[in-house]
Amino acid sequence: MTRYFLLAATTDDDLFGGFFESDTWAVARNLAIFFVVVLWLATAYWVYKDARRRVEDPWLVAMAGLLGLVPPFLGPIIYLFFRPPEYLEDVHERELEIRAMEARLAESDLRCPVCRGHVEPSYLVCPICTTRLKQACSGCGAPLEAIWQVCPHCATAVPPAGVTLDEPITRQQPGIR
Ligand SMILES: [Zn+2]
Ligand SMILES: [Zn+2]
Repeated sequence: MTRYFLLAATTDDDLFGGFFESDTWAVARNLAIFFVVVLWLATAYWVYKDARRRVEDPWLVAMAGLLGLVPPFLGPIIYLFFRPPEYLEDVHERELEIRAMEARLAESDLRCPVCRGHVEPSYLVCPICTTRLKQACSGCGAPLEAIWQVCPHCATAVPPAGVTLDEPITRQQPGIR
């Protein structure tokens, strides 16, 4: 009986197992393993590369790379669920745009320090509460910024005068309150 089974086993091996012992099978199997390993490493590398573009913290990038490796093939899918939705460069670009927009808004939204009324950069006096906003150039009459040392329009030197700027404002304040 045992002998019969052994015989049957050997015939089976000859019929079906013969292929699996052949060189063709060995080559095909090795090739398949090679491609699976290459695909595994490629997906892990892709996860690492993608994480570097989306995550700032180098430790989190390393963790993402590790997740790309283990568990094989499942890790990248898990990573896809949890990765940040935006690239870092897009985030930075948007932040820059917002900052520029805020600067533009602040520039166009000049307000009187006393009555908070809207004033233009060219105003010398607030038209609502008559607070003096800027000193006029003695040469050409252009409005001067408080920190300017010289008039940019006619090159007349600005006399050091914090008094002329502050005095009318302090005089106005009691009337407002
Ligand atoms: Zn005012
Ligand atoms: Zn001037």
